[in-house]
Amino acid sequence: MIDEQHQLQPPSRVPFEAIACPVCGDAMNVRVVRDDGDRGRIVRCRRCDLGYVSPRPVSTIGLYEDPAYFGQSETTSDAGYLAYGEDSGVMREYFARVAHDLAERVGQGRLLEVGCANGSFLRAAREASFEVQGVEPGDSAAQLARDAGLPVLTGILDDPAIEIGAWDVVVLLQTVEHLPSPEPSFARLLTLLRPGGTLLLTTPNQHSWLARLSGKHWFEYKPPEHLFLFTPRTIAALLARVGFEDIEVTRDVHRYPPRWVIGRLGRYVPVARPLVALAERLLPNALLDATLPVYYGSMRVTARRPQR
Ligand SMILES: [Zn+2]
Repeated sequence: MIDEQHQLQPPSRVPFEAIACPVCGDAMNVRVVRDDGDRGRIVRCRRCDLGYVSPRPVSTIGLYEDPAYFGQSETTSDAGYLAYGEDSGVMREYFARVAHDLAERVGQGRLLEVGCANGSFLRAAREASFEVQGVEPGDSAAQLARDAGLPVLTGILDDPAIEIGAWDVVVLLQTVEHLPSPEPSFARLLTLLRPGGTLLLTTPNQHSWLARLSGKHWFEYKPPEHLFLFTPRTIAALLARVGFEDIEVTRDVHRYPPRWVIGRLGRYVPVARPLVALAERLLPNALLDATLPVYYGSMRVTARRPQR
């Protein structure tokens, strides 16, 4: 414990802050997963097993203002979506399916997406008959969405311009892990929804097989972008605490060509590279380019604001 307190000193001169587990409120009862120096240190709460970055840089919002984050510039950056554009083909089917599932569940209505990037999901949601609005902190990504005719505000979840109690659906895809304070953010999401409204979010599951297999090398451990790595139990606990009900956690399944999947595996999981090279050489093209369901450890969480 004394060692632990010692280690909670900021590792560099960048303004850093130590964070208590938002589920248990305990700052000290953690084990260190990995120390990434001035990017932050990944810890896991010994009580609830939430993964989080602590100490961490005081602010990370600047990350999303860099056009390189969404792969829009020539700048090489290991942050963000390496090639958001390159992914759009495989992502289009996924976004359409998520929007279709939502429409089946809630019918039509007003949908707000927080962290909407360049608006790819908003477009799919509009095609599924939702009336859409997006909010995105990265102005260059938000501008791309606006250029495509989508109503997107440059801003964050706390932006006072977002209407309260007005949304039938609020969506956050791979976004909550970036937010600096989950509990106040979830409370804010509850107030944005109309009574009975539905929250849908996806986020990496730290208890997924790929996370367990990867250990401290899990590709979702990327401080300081991903500040919190949830498990089904920790995210459900925080959502319930702020007042959500009917909380459901399911697997967030994508459908990708195997060629795309093993290419990603080679990029993000270094130990898998020899296997990837072998697979690319030996597997027939027809199989590599087929579309198969892939579960890589993201969970889909839905919850409802109570009717009253
Ligand atoms: Zn905890």
